[in-house]
Amino acid sequence: MVNFSDFALHKTIQQAIHDMGFEEPSPIQEQCIPKILEGVDLIGQAQTGTGKTAAFGLPLIEKMTNQNAVQAIVLTPTRELAIQVSGELRKIAKYKRVRTLPIYGGQSIGHQIRALKQGVQVVIGTPGRVLDHLRRKTLRLDQVKMLVLDEADEMLDMGFQEDIESIIQETSSDRQTLLFSATMPQEILRLARKYMNDPQTVAISRKEVTAPTIEQVYYKVFERSKLESLCRIIDSEDLELGIVFCRTKRGVDELTEALQERGYMASGLHGDLSQAQRDKVMKSFRDSTIELLVATDVAARGIDVGNVSHVINYDIPQDPESYVHRIGRTGRAGRKGIALTLVTPREMKQLRTIEKVSKSTLESRNVPSLEEVMERQQTLWKQQIVNLLAGDDDLTPFMQVVDQLKDNYPVEKIAAATLSLAFASSITFEEGDAYDFGDTGASKGMVRFFLNIGRNLELRPPDLVKEITELVGISSKAIGKIDIFENFTFIEVSQDVAPFVYEAMRHTRMKGKRINLEPAKPRVKRNQ
Ligand code: AMP
Repeated sequence: MVNFSDFALHKTIQQAIHDMGFEEPSPIQEQCIPKILEGVDLIGQAQTGTGKTAAFGLPLIEKMTNQNAVQAIVLTPTRELAIQVSGELRKIAKYKRVRTLPIYGGQSIGHQIRALKQGVQVVIGTPGRVLDHLRRKTLRLDQVKMLVLDEADEMLDMGFQEDIESIIQETSSDRQTLLFSATMPQEILRLARKYMNDPQTVAISRKEVTAPTIEQVYYKVFERSKLESLCRIIDSEDLELGIVFCRTKRGVDELTEALQERGYMASGLHGDLSQAQRDKVMKSFRDSTIELLVATDVAARGIDVGNVSHVINYDIPQDPESYVHRIGRTGRAGRKGIALTLVTPREMKQLRTIEKVSKSTLESRNVPSLEEVMERQQTLWKQQIVNLLAGDDDLTPFMQVVDQLKDNYPVEKIAAATLSLAFASSITFEEGDAYDFGDTGASKGMVRFFLNIGRNLELRPPDLVKEITELVGISSKAIGKIDIFENFTFIEVSQDVAPFVYEAMRHTRMKGKRINLEPAKPRVKRNQ
């Protein structure tokens, strides 16, 4: 087994990895990191969710010096990805004096110019805006030692090829070039041949894996309300004993604590625990004194417990093999097992890869509504109050408040108001996430998307509805008005599923053509 400590990474970076809570390198990292450190050009076939950002990010930050010049540039197709990559690189560079800056369209260029003037070593940007800065001479790339093309296939699909080539020409020819892409169409290989120096290719080996025949379900969730979604899912399930998987040690600690606070009997398991602590947790799991074991992949590896009723992927696994390993912990000895996976919009594609490689189909289900889980909530509240009443906590200061109020209000009402103060936070559920599609000219409650195919490819509304409902796992009721024109189409979908439609449908194939789906602009006539 490979550890992060096996890589020639400085201790400041090792410390950052530890802080991020990564336990062991993901398959793509295991293969990429040593090669990138060696200095070779590399093509990595990987998509979001596989740990590809850290695969190039760790060696990239390792190689930065404190020379005050842009030494690395990462090009990404979208501003969301630029921000995300920048955030991850910043965490990796926590103990090293390396400044990173995302630059993308839509943000004030003046602000970016000022930030660039302060001196940054790593720029993460979308091609259009990077080119804009190069033309204004507010960004210089002649000292760039490393160039990363992230999600290269998406960048080409979005028509950034020329921009990318212009940018590459501004960098010095002895740079190291890395290219990451989920797919490897001809144009990518051409780009690689033209601008890369004897590149090595790394792909996660797609070993034949077969998922066990157990009930497999996925839920579409938003990052922001993931915890709340998990609680509702748990509450609606007949759960005996469950293992909840998180990506990182930190994730395990945070989730365990949050679940305990909400009254679940949960314990965490990860590699930083001592043997004695591990044994204690495992014993309580075996004896069923806890109902949920929150664990990383590494920690769960040695677990052999027979009566696990549920495996819950709180974080989607980084590769299909790990999915199969995880869900194999339930459904043992002829018992019925259930595997539940939470999927955020950006992870939709990873979900489809897992399905394809593990030859399984995950049924889509909606996160239960509050009403559906209210009964369980009420039981939990009652339990907490009963515990308090039975305990020896000093309630005197609170009794005084009740005394003062009870002349004017009935005691039942005072009690209910107090409960609402205590538990209101557990029943608010913020929908949505940081997806802002702006004004798309849609009807109320809907988002309108533009699709670059139309009647020219004999697209008909039922085809589109079928494609979307199947790929995104939503009901056809979530789809609104569809206007098909000769070369393009407008389609409205309900706001709550729009981020999933956007992430799952962008750059897939329909009618033999790679399609592009983007938020529509209000009342702008396109002439295609
Ligand atoms: P990416 O595929 O780069 O978008 O990464 C997906 C998520 O996995 C991010 O939240 C990373 O922080 C996380 N991640 C990356 N590498 C690891 C690792 N070795 N162990 C645990 N989590 C990781």
